[in-house]
Amino acid sequence: MQPVNLSNITIDKIELPSFRKNGLEAEVLRLDKIHPQISGNKWFKLRYYLDEAKQLNKKSIVTFGGAWSNHIIATAAACKLHGFISIGIIRGEEPAELSPTLQEAKAMGMQFIFVSRENYRQKRMPVQIDPDGYIINEGGYGIKGAEGAAGILDHCQKENYTHICCAAGTGTMAAGLAIAAGKETRIVAVSVMKSNPEIGRNIELFSKKNTFELQHDYHFGGYAKHTPGLIHFMNDFYQSTSIPSDFVYTGKLFYAINDLATKKYFPAGSRLLLIHSGGLQGNASLSKGTLIF
Ligand SMILES: *Cc1c(COP(=O)(O)O)cnc(C)c1O
Repeated sequence: MQPVNLSNITIDKIELPSFRKNGLEAEVLRLDKIHPQISGNKWFKLRYYLDEAKQLNKKSIVTFGGAWSNHIIATAAACKLHGFISIGIIRGEEPAELSPTLQEAKAMGMQFIFVSRENYRQKRMPVQIDPDGYIINEGGYGIKGAEGAAGILDHCQKENYTHICCAAGTGTMAAGLAIAAGKETRIVAVSVMKSNPEIGRNIELFSKKNTFELQHDYHFGGYAKHTPGLIHFMNDFYQSTSIPSDFVYTGKLFYAINDLATKKYFPAGSRLLLIHSGGLQGNASLSKGTLIF
């Protein structure tokens, strides 16, 4: 396994007409560069769960996700690195051929238990789960995940920014950013799901702060859904910035921030930090040629 390397993280200044016209400065924190497959934010979120599993002398870690899950692959890698047995409870019947995500996780030693979508949704789990395993929620959701994500801002000068913007699934990462950011900095969380009021509740619960703003209108049909407009934007964005994005999270984030800038959501003089949380491996689920990168 290629090692995860946090020193590969860079901060890239980006220039878009919407920013220039409205007097905004924007930089991207490139957590996607830590590893080709292992997603930036998922790696950060795992840290304190693994610490606790070690303290409790657990031998194995059990977690949950779908066939393209950034969390599954990050957990498999972290368990390999820290010497845990890893068990992935995977949503859906076992396929004839594993997705590249699951192939990669398997190569890092993860064992799978496939659960029908219905049972997965009802949280009816197979009996074989190791009762002594340490359980990590799907996506690293939880307070420890937020505390781990707070470490993301150790990789930039966080005082430099008026707004820190990120994609939000559960809101765990956004909560971590709120924990770490000063009280003058606004966290702008772009929901990648259709109507998910839990994001706001989670951010507040985990961060005990209200320095965040939610954007609910950039889900493009719902979780992991996409439109030609989104794909077109991602290709354009790559052409003008050389930054690749993924269609589940960061593509929607960059689209949203560009659109909000055009609509003068950010006051002139704002300095934005956009979190590139990774997730590029999931683009392999798109048909070839959809993206130019
Ligand atoms: C999981 C994930 C997110 C969302 O994280 P939450 O903490 O669930 O809000 C954002 N970006 C990427 C690339 C992810 O894999």
